[in-house]
Amino acid sequence: MTNRNPLTHPRIPAAGESALNALCGNLSIGTNGELRFAGQDVAELAARHGTPLYLMDEDRVRDNCRTYTEAFSRLFRPGSMVLYASKANCFRRMMQVVAEEGLGADVVSPGEIWTALRAGFDPARIFFHSNNKTAADVAFAMERGIGYFVVDHAYEIELIEAEAARRDLRQKVLLRITPGIDTHTYEAVNTGKVDSKFGSAIETGQAEAITALTLAQPHVELCGFHCHVGSMVFAEDVFERTVELMVGFLADVRAALGYTADMLDLGGGYGVRYTAEDPAIDIPRKLEDVAAALRLSCALRDYPEPLLLMEPGRSISADAGLTVYQVGAVKRIPGYKNYVSVDGGMSDNPRYALYGSHYTCLLAARPAAEGELICDVVGRCCESGDVIQPNVSLPADVREGELLAVCTTGAYNYSMASNYNRIPRPPIVMLHNGTDDVAVRRETLEDLIALDV
Ligand SMILES: *Cc1c(COP(=O)(O)O)cnc(C)c1O
Repeated sequence: MTNRNPLTHPRIPAAGESALNALCGNLSIGTNGELRFAGQDVAELAARHGTPLYLMDEDRVRDNCRTYTEAFSRLFRPGSMVLYASKANCFRRMMQVVAEEGLGADVVSPGEIWTALRAGFDPARIFFHSNNKTAADVAFAMERGIGYFVVDHAYEIELIEAEAARRDLRQKVLLRITPGIDTHTYEAVNTGKVDSKFGSAIETGQAEAITALTLAQPHVELCGFHCHVGSMVFAEDVFERTVELMVGFLADVRAALGYTADMLDLGGGYGVRYTAEDPAIDIPRKLEDVAAALRLSCALRDYPEPLLLMEPGRSISADAGLTVYQVGAVKRIPGYKNYVSVDGGMSDNPRYALYGSHYTCLLAARPAAEGELICDVVGRCCESGDVIQPNVSLPADVREGELLAVCTTGAYNYSMASNYNRIPRPPIVMLHNGTDDVAVRRETLEDLIALDV
């Protein structure tokens, strides 16, 4: 999916029940025409918990996890693993839920490690990524028995070898490789190309060099290879092509160094539907194609089928999230533009500002009402780039005090939230079976100055 120009992006038609449902099955319209999420009345939840408010549908998270785990147990070697990419949305309750669903975790910092461990995660099922782990990070993770380090470059091997030697243990690692693939997604989320800041490239010979270096370390155990080619991937055969490239690399490494890898981690990246125009991905179907590609690539090279790992983030959490705001100023600039301002903004959802991402915005009381006013939904931050979504169509009489919901905000919203303008971050309320429990409480003004000495 390319980065669609917001100016030419067609406006989203008023969403009827079926259009909403197509976006995600947990959105529906109640008997009074009101928006319901995970079966609950969005306005009632907002009245109880205030706005802005992040809602997370726990059952949807679980369903999304099971979509992967069920396909994995059917398609890949026993011991293959689905890892939740914590960076999509990381808080204690979320990590508990994915652990209960049997996933491992992909983490990128001591903060994410801490959250996962405090959620009761088995450290052996944690994979520590990051392109720039410090010596302190390495020591922190080893101290806590983190199962695997996903190593980005040669310097990190030195750090791990030194720390593991000090502790007299053998640390398991995967090496992050850049297979040299263009996923046709937005540049900033395209990570598999040779000139990426992540990993070691096959093309330049650095991938093989770091493999040889790793195999020579007495306190490092090489378990296999990792790659992550991008995010919001919809293109038909990206993962199949990646498998073919990676298995080709595995076979070359075996020929050159006599090393056979037992793990192949393909990273994350499947796209989700933010608007009705985004294609729907049938993940079990896609995984069948990946399994077929893996089998074929291995058979062609007489290579034993490795354990397969994947690291979905967005496709686990995105459609389990909904953000609720209250509308404030509605500004009409005749002949120019209309603005509908909400009581949050890029501080709780920076994705439009960062990537030009698309979202579906609905009024909670009348999600199916005809949208006649073309407006930009903007936040309260002092920044003209503080746009949640441009060119939204809302009912012509949209007014202050109404609730506005933004769909599919369960990934890369809370985890990317900031206190810009000293705006407290919203709470996260988990919805499960008709209940609504606060999983992250609302930040207070006192929280904002808590670190000021
Ligand atoms: C971001 C990332 C993921 C998750 O990507 P999604 O698009 O959210 O599925 C997985 N693995 C790595 C290494 C990542 O950087």
